[in-house]
Amino acid sequence: MFKASDYLGLLHQLEQFFADAQSEPLEPAELEQQLSLELPAVGTSLEHLHAEISNYLSYAVKTAHPTYFNQLWGGFNAAGFMGEILTSATNTSMYTYEVAPAATLIENALIAKMGSFVGFSEPEGQFTTGGSNGNLMAVAIATHKALPSAKQIGMLGAPPLIAFVSAEAHYSFVKAAQLLGLGARQVWKVPVDENGAMIVTELEALIAKAHAQGAQPFFVVGTAGTTVRGVFDPFTEIAAVAQRENLWFHIDGSWGGGVLLSASHRHLMAGAELADSVVWDAHKMMGLSLVCSVLLVKHRGLMQDTFTASDTEYLFHAGDEDPVDLGLSTMHCGRRVDAVKLWLAWKHLGDRGWEALIDRYFELAAYAESIIDAHPSLRLVTPRVSLNLCFQYIPKEPQQCANDLTLRIRAALLEQRIAMVNYAELDGSTVFRLVICNNQTSSEDLETFFEALVATAQTLEQEAV
Ligand SMILES: *Cc1c(COP(=O)(O)O)cnc(C)c1O
Repeated sequence: MFKASDYLGLLHQLEQFFADAQSEPLEPAELEQQLSLELPAVGTSLEHLHAEISNYLSYAVKTAHPTYFNQLWGGFNAAGFMGEILTSATNTSMYTYEVAPAATLIENALIAKMGSFVGFSEPEGQFTTGGSNGNLMAVAIATHKALPSAKQIGMLGAPPLIAFVSAEAHYSFVKAAQLLGLGARQVWKVPVDENGAMIVTELEALIAKAHAQGAQPFFVVGTAGTTVRGVFDPFTEIAAVAQRENLWFHIDGSWGGGVLLSASHRHLMAGAELADSVVWDAHKMMGLSLVCSVLLVKHRGLMQDTFTASDTEYLFHAGDEDPVDLGLSTMHCGRRVDAVKLWLAWKHLGDRGWEALIDRYFELAAYAESIIDAHPSLRLVTPRVSLNLCFQYIPKEPQQCANDLTLRIRAALLEQRIAMVNYAELDGSTVFRLVICNNQTSSEDLETFFEALVATAQTLEQEAV
């Protein structure tokens, strides 16, 4: 049934894909013309699919291209790729040990390993379908702990439960509150300091305000690596408040969790061991392919209490359910094997290899910062804390708008297929958000990127005169 030779052509196509320049960005209407989207009544042979595959690859964004800086993920992990193939070929679901025996034990081993990096001695945890959903599950667990009756009777009659996140936290917490019936308005945003970190005295003031209104504070988030600035909230101080006020303390390390792997940079996560739960995306800083994300919970048993439902006898056969059946303790039913690719990557790199990767990213980020600092027309708009660099090109003529120029430079770099770099709004400015997390990027690539950016900016400036 399975013949390796059927797939070699695809592997060669991928080799070409990775060697090619960045793809051309097309508008949806243009792209629609290039792809044959209509699905046939009568199918075709595997051989014929190579043309479709080739066409698909021509328009796929090359997220492992050395000048792809657009998201909080990118690059290519070879062992992880082998893991993806393994996952796909051995197609199974993580819900029962019976159908995913090795994967279940591998997942548990990774939860223990990653938990040990956080400082949790015996964590419970699971792979989830991403940081957003890990955050959602953390809110669900904290809600269940604060108001166990809600699982059966809902929130009726209970005081509103209030969650606190920094003003620069990820939007997934508001979404979680919407979905779980807490209500988006029950997510209170704590002001941040001028560098983007939560001000803990403001957190305390908001908690007091919630009490005064007869509401029940129950949950506080510290972000490890904010989405725009890459800032880390002060976890030790937040933990002290959470302890005193009996709040669940969750760390959203979707982006920044990876710094735990480096002895030189893990100080950014100081206090992480004081959290009740941590989300950590291995598909971001660690460079595994999407999706690869873990939720770690310090206290055992709560995940199962929160997530088990009635009417599951058909799957988790009563009496003989295996205590290691992961499906009992998650919001998912069928779930992909995402642990195996991380396990292979970890076997390949080892703790030392991860540390070297993270350290290299920090060196590259420091190098990018030095280029910005040394250039008279480039300006960092907020201090660099980790791997995010928020900067602007400052036009020579003051009447030209730096915000507008950011967007035009970005579009031109994309159009010329030189680089893909994102932008963000920060304190009223439109800034480039350069993210260093692509293992294909070298210091020369950064030099090329900045040279091209400045040259493009100068051309646009001249055109405007
Ligand atoms: C990326 C990110 C998320 C969302 O994670 P996904 O894996 O994309 O769902 C949540 N929080 C922060 C801080 C992030 O950077």
